[in-house]
Amino acid sequence: MIHPATELRPIDPVMGFGVFATAPIPRGAIVWALDPLDRVLTRAEVLALPAAMGFDAERHLWIDRQGRYVLAWDLARYVNHSCRPNCAATAYGWEIAVADIAAGDQLTNDYADLGMTPGETLACRCNAPDCRGVVQSAQAGLIRAALAEAVAVALDCAAGVEQPLRPLLAEADLAKLGLGTFGPAIFGQNLTRKAS
Ligand SMILES: [Zn+2]
Repeated sequence: MIHPATELRPIDPVMGFGVFATAPIPRGAIVWALDPLDRVLTRAEVLALPAAMGFDAERHLWIDRQGRYVLAWDLARYVNHSCRPNCAATAYGWEIAVADIAAGDQLTNDYADLGMTPGETLACRCNAPDCRGVVQSAQAGLIRAALAEAVAVALDCAAGVEQPLRPLLAEADLAKLGLGTFGPAIFGQNLTRKAS
């Protein structure tokens, strides 16, 4: 599930849609975590999908650090690439904001960090000052050290910001990170109010 302060917006016919913040999302906020409605598939299961589905796995799936193919049921699958992303994967399976994201900003990942198919090449027009022009899985080695550093800084901020997705995170992960002092879980509180 993606951070609740987001919405899907059309960009243009080439880019299609993108995911934009509807309120500020601070660095350190968890922006995506696997939830029970997301699908996790093996490569064999992806290859066995009926051709009649016309399913474009490269467009709609990403490969996590465990090599699993993830299909997000919500707008998370529309997050676009940037060579200077404001979101990145952690070793814990969830994604974190690695920069302050203002209301109206687009949420982005570096696709080269998300297990692109070997040999797959995407032309990039992200307009970042250091745009690589093309995105390839072979670039993962070049970018992951910088991303790991950005993720480490973001994790240091995590305990001090609101974490609407906290109810989706494993307590074991939180304990390992010393994040038991997370701020209020706004999303969980809303659910409680609706149910009463
Ligand atoms: Zn780029």
